[in-house]
Amino acid sequence: MRVAVAGAGPAGLLFALLAKRRRAAWRVEVLEQNPPDATFGFGVVFSQGALEFLARDAPDLHAALAARMESWPVQRIVHRDERIDIDGNGFSAIARLDLLRFLQQLCREAGVLMRFGERLEAAPDADVVVGADGLNSVVRGSGGFRPQVEWLNNRFVWYGTRQRFDCLTLTFRGSAAGAFVAHHYRYCGDMSTFIVECDEATWRAAGLDRMDDAGSRAYCEQVFAADLGGQALVSNNSIWRRFPLLHNPVWSSGNRVLIGDALRSMHFSIGSGTRLAFEDAIALDRAFGEAGQDVPAVLAAFERERRPVVDKLFAAASASSYWYEDFPARMARLDALALAYDYMTRSGRMRPERLRQVAPAFMQKVDAAGVSA
Ligand SMILES: Cc1cc2nc3c(=O)[nH]c(=O)nc-3n(C[C@H](O)[C@H](O)[C@H](O)COP(=O)(O)OP(=O)(O)OC[C@H]3O[C@@H](n4cnc5c(N)ncnc54)[C@H](O)[C@@H]3O)c2cc1C
Repeated sequence: MRVAVAGAGPAGLLFALLAKRRRAAWRVEVLEQNPPDATFGFGVVFSQGALEFLARDAPDLHAALAARMESWPVQRIVHRDERIDIDGNGFSAIARLDLLRFLQQLCREAGVLMRFGERLEAAPDADVVVGADGLNSVVRGSGGFRPQVEWLNNRFVWYGTRQRFDCLTLTFRGSAAGAFVAHHYRYCGDMSTFIVECDEATWRAAGLDRMDDAGSRAYCEQVFAADLGGQALVSNNSIWRRFPLLHNPVWSSGNRVLIGDALRSMHFSIGSGTRLAFEDAIALDRAFGEAGQDVPAVLAAFERERRPVVDKLFAAASASSYWYEDFPARMARLDALALAYDYMTRSGRMRPERLRQVAPAFMQKVDAAGVSA
């Protein structure tokens, strides 16, 4: 059996690893356009729930990653200089490059063939082709998938900084041009991710549409001066972008199947893109375990198991992203506590009763202030 995996991101590497471990005789090959140590962005964050599934489905990977992660038991909202901590909302983070290097090492040890620096122009030839080649997937573009994309209007840019933040934080700040929000968290001892987001009108009024990288960083450093503690923002292919909400009604075509961001994108505000990429990889491997080498049966089993979960999460992530699309109006209307409550209930999945169970200290303040009434 020849398995070709397009893309050495979290989805492609984890699937290749699990598939090769399951069937040592299979030829499992990963094809990646970049060199092994190249990565965009800085850190990735996982919710506590995301780590629990990894502990269950890939315990050795979980044990190794847990030792390398930064973790915090709370999430924080900062608005009008007031800090609101939300208990019971634990997260862990790791440098994206560390995560990928570690997966590459496990793949090498398991006997996965990895070819870096090879850009695919078409789906490769194999018995099964796994399209784990991200948002602009060539495998998806090779026909039969009917992708649908909705572009969000907000602009965002992914920076890093040496400022050490206490926990996963959303900081809202106003400027002469309009409202900004930063999503930031520490992902190793001395580095943090710092994603800046604003609406299109603010982005243009600030002149960010015309600024070069240095100008853009300087502008954001000034907006978030109170939070950065004098530390600079750092670029890594950091360009202002719009987020595409992508999904595919068709998951596989012939012997080609999509996983991870190639299959669908989940807005970064739910922090679960990498988790979902991992879960897809685990589910696809499990389908091979159930259906063996009968490729159509494997791909059908994969979709049967995964689609209901993914569709539900896609709806929640989309609701979360729409919340950000009008965050300036919410910032203007709500104080810090009310904004934090509005944020926590944004996707419609978290009801007040459930929030009282998972975040009792936060909800005590909310109830005392009459916010949820
Ligand atoms: C601003 C931002 C912040 C994010 N923050 C988080 C976060 O905190 N936590 C989280 O879990 N997720 C986060 N994500 C999402 C996360 O990065 C992705 O969901 C995740 O990386 C998906 O993994 P993947 O393996 O499917 O795709 P990718 O990581 O995109 O990997 C795809 C791979 O395929 C390769 N490739 C593409 N085309 C070709 C080709 N033609 N030939 C060969 N190789 C190719 C690429 O080089 C890449 O290595 C964020 C995303 C953004 C944009």
